[in-house]
Amino acid sequence: MKITHALISIAITLAAAACNSTSNTTNNAGNSSNDTVADGAIAPSSAPAQIEKATILFAGDAMQHDSQLRAARRPDGTYDYSGYFTAVEPYIKGADYAVVNLETTLGGNDYKGYPCFSSPDSYAEELKQAGFDMFLTANNHCLDSRDAGARRTIEVLDKMGVDHIGSYLSAAERANRLPMIKDIKGFKVGFLDYTYGTNGIRPGCDIVVDYIDTTLIKRDIKALRDAGAELLCVNMHWGIEYKQLPVPIQTQLASFLARQGVELIIGGHPHVIQPIELREDNDGTRRLTVYSMGNFISGMKKTDTQGGIMVKAFLSRGKNGKAMVESAEYLPVFVMRPGMKATRNFRLVMAEGEPAALPFLKSATAIFDRYNINVPRCKKIEL
Ligand SMILES: [Zn+2]
Repeated sequence: MKITHALISIAITLAAAACNSTSNTTNNAGNSSNDTVADGAIAPSSAPAQIEKATILFAGDAMQHDSQLRAARRPDGTYDYSGYFTAVEPYIKGADYAVVNLETTLGGNDYKGYPCFSSPDSYAEELKQAGFDMFLTANNHCLDSRDAGARRTIEVLDKMGVDHIGSYLSAAERANRLPMIKDIKGFKVGFLDYTYGTNGIRPGCDIVVDYIDTTLIKRDIKALRDAGAELLCVNMHWGIEYKQLPVPIQTQLASFLARQGVELIIGGHPHVIQPIELREDNDGTRRLTVYSMGNFISGMKKTDTQGGIMVKAFLSRGKNGKAMVESAEYLPVFVMRPGMKATRNFRLVMAEGEPAALPFLKSATAIFDRYNINVPRCKKIEL
């Protein structure tokens, strides 16, 4: 399918209005209406048959550096992340489904930051509490606690009752879990997650990590379509760290995914933001490409790494009932470190209106204003 570069005429004001109208809707986190069936078939939904709007939210890399561990540690040895996401929680919970990249492992003990991350379970639990429904686990740090840590991460996420995708206990477990289709307010959305590598650490005989491999991706996409996915969301851990523009391997892979008909291409890893595009094919298919959302939360201190964005995709149906990505918006977020405004712990806040976030926001805005295609900033959030 050849992509044209025709711009979609989406008025920024309409997107902003959509943002406001959805910010107070109920989150379906853990709700049984988002049913996945092991063989990919969709369970009957109790929702009305004709629901025409839904939103999916994507967040960047959820990191856990040593400075975060030190700040979260209580005298009794437990780790407290309460308040980490409180300021942005309504925006996350306002989405019908929310996805975050868990760029650490839940190794169980001996918690560590860079370079081999292992985080307390309470960190993941706080992400769930903030409203995230799906945790991505295909990234270059998913084997930081080796096979045992990767296994435990999957087991803990299962116990928490959240969806996760990208690494698996075994080939058999992968075959059982995929194709993964979520029923999001009546939209059947298929998910996949791949990483460029795992920092030179290879999985042992059982653990499976989904590496970027176009043959595998083609096969997985076909399985999702065959199982009834109306929209495809492929998450890619790719790119070069600290580069605010995509490198050729990213644009080439994005073109490959576009040729496969993927409607939502969602990227991470560079730790800084990169442009977002919403384009339309000749056949009217709208495709959202998010090259990098930067950090969600981290202990990183360089200006461009101190924040990131959340991206919200608005789904609707055309006149023929065909599911589509109608529009998208982004919301910049910023990490407040201990000591800023007398905060004891790290906290994620909206970047706009926060004086400490100005250098980050200025740099990110320069990129978005110059390179984004049809994806405006969401300006009016009622938190
Ligand atoms: Zn990464």
